[in-house]
Amino acid sequence: MGKVLPTRLLERLFSPVDLKSDCIEIQGIQVEVRYKKINSLRLTVHPSGAVRLTAPVLVQEYRLREFLLSKLGWIHQQQARFLALPPPPPQPLIQTGELHFFQGQRYCLNVIAQAGRYSHVESGENNALNLHVRADASMAQREAALHLFYREHLQREIPLLIAKWQPVIKVQVAAWGVKKMKTRWGSCNIRAHRIWLNLELAKHSPQCLEYVVVHEMVHLLERYHNERFKKFMDQFLPQWRLLKAELNQSSPGYEA
Ligand SMILES: [Zn+2]
Repeated sequence: MGKVLPTRLLERLFSPVDLKSDCIEIQGIQVEVRYKKINSLRLTVHPSGAVRLTAPVLVQEYRLREFLLSKLGWIHQQQARFLALPPPPPQPLIQTGELHFFQGQRYCLNVIAQAGRYSHVESGENNALNLHVRADASMAQREAALHLFYREHLQREIPLLIAKWQPVIKVQVAAWGVKKMKTRWGSCNIRAHRIWLNLELAKHSPQCLEYVVVHEMVHLLERYHNERFKKFMDQFLPQWRLLKAELNQSSPGYEA
């Protein structure tokens, strides 16, 4: 048992900084110990799995070890609970200097404070994307302005592509829309002749957007991704495999 010398306790008591914290290893777990002017022990497990013990300044190390041994089950339980949780989604950083993609190009974002209530985005010189928002706009409001910019871009481009491809594929699209989708680039409701396109497509090259529009329109001829479907794709858009690979490389896990 680690016997703590009284001098060590005194040093800890009077030391300004460096002896106020310590590290104890207990059955392979590193525990950060912080000494404070408190009367009882406080044990916490952080979402990262890190274990911290806050202890009274004059407590002896063997007491801490006894306490930690009695809490091992709880520590393991807490760590397992945090590890099982999915990681929190990354916070989008929408601030000046951040790089954002638009139409397959990298843009440097400029957040520009404005007085008016209506935010807007425009592409400026030298591959800049100027985001005009109120000075106190939150990250969520900035993100909403950027998403509106992406949506408006797609809403201009998609009807042009549908008009271009309808006489070629010889199908009619009755309705189309843009939405956020987690796992798909697009989808097609064959019965309603309606296609959906992923908002994320605004970040990719115009050729990639065209590939997904053509892909969904070909579903109006063939429901499944079978040989017949691929033959149509080869006929209409011979380079479709390259465009599909380009999309999947940037965002694996998405399907058209
Ligand atoms: Zn498909």
